[in-house]
Amino acid sequence: MSTRPRVGILGAGQLALMLAQAAQHLDVDVLCAGRPGDCAAQAAPIIAVDLESPEEVRAFHDAVDVLTIESENVETSVLADLPHLAPQAQAVRIAQDRLFEKDFLRFNGVATAPYAEVNSLRDLHAALASIGAPSILKTRRLGYDGRGQVRLTHTDEASSAWAHTGGAPCILEAMVNFDLELSLIAARNTQGQIAFYPLTHNIHRAGILRTSIAPYVDPVLQSLAEKHMRTVLEKLNYVGVLAIEFFVSERTLIANEMAPRVHNSGHWTIEGAATSQFENALRAMLGMTLGSTRSQPTVMLNCIGTMPPESDTAPFANLHRHDYGKQPRAGRKVGHLTFPATETAAIALWQERLEILS
Ligand code: AMP
Repeated sequence: MSTRPRVGILGAGQLALMLAQAAQHLDVDVLCAGRPGDCAAQAAPIIAVDLESPEEVRAFHDAVDVLTIESENVETSVLADLPHLAPQAQAVRIAQDRLFEKDFLRFNGVATAPYAEVNSLRDLHAALASIGAPSILKTRRLGYDGRGQVRLTHTDEASSAWAHTGGAPCILEAMVNFDLELSLIAARNTQGQIAFYPLTHNIHRAGILRTSIAPYVDPVLQSLAEKHMRTVLEKLNYVGVLAIEFFVSERTLIANEMAPRVHNSGHWTIEGAATSQFENALRAMLGMTLGSTRSQPTVMLNCIGTMPPESDTAPFANLHRHDYGKQPRAGRKVGHLTFPATETAAIALWQERLEILS
């Protein structure tokens, strides 16, 4: 009988795929809850599990050594009382709700943009009176890549903005006039060991991550980000990989959001770090010593909408192509390309090509 540890993932998208690929180097088996055509099927068995059924999720959990998630948008009632869940349900509950998340961050001394809870048009008027415009109305749940968000440039746009969200519970957030966006990724294992990656500089367009450049070398911001990260990880007794996205404004960090999982802004670690975020996520959950996060300057470009043809990427010897095997669709992340940061000409060329393709 096999004694290899088994990790179950709720979901079978590209994050599950890259976790399953990392598991192959670690002598770990990965099983994914999903549908047969999902992209993780390239690297792991897919099991049909109804993610809204507590009984089915429980049975999947009981068949593996550790259960994890690839999206925070799972119904947390199905995660309650699962002893081998990493990260724990509490972390997912906080990270999947923008109000809980901001309350938690503030309470723990991590700065955020000014925000207010909005459950009605009346609340929105009141929030606008204190926060003003420009500001952003965001649904508390299920928003990603800029979805579920409306930007208000004037306070008289309240009615149309509220209609746009369809009456879902929201927060109104002040627009931050940031200099740049950074993220910090860290892993914490079951014994409490923490490994921090260097800060990553992220460039978004239309709310979607386009480019990640790492490391972003700034010892002052690195140590501030690590301090915030350590507080969050320890307060939650967190196990696994956590990402926190920050705005940088006037040399300080303002947290935007956190993700209780491996993160798009850490995909560069597959080639650019001694141990990838995917391997360290598995190591953390399985109680293994975390691997080194020593890093080389690296750039990752997201492929949005459609992958470039292989014949176009093949001539670039130092380009690492990751095709998630997804059907093309506008705004969808279908893959990414990674380069050593020294490949400046190839990076500039591909940034332009991918913008045209997306
Ligand atoms: P989010 O879905 O909250 O991560 O937002 C996606 C992107 O929209 C962020 O990475 C920023 O580029 C932008 N954004 C979100 N919230 C704000 C804000 N309060 N001020 C300025 N830009 C924001």
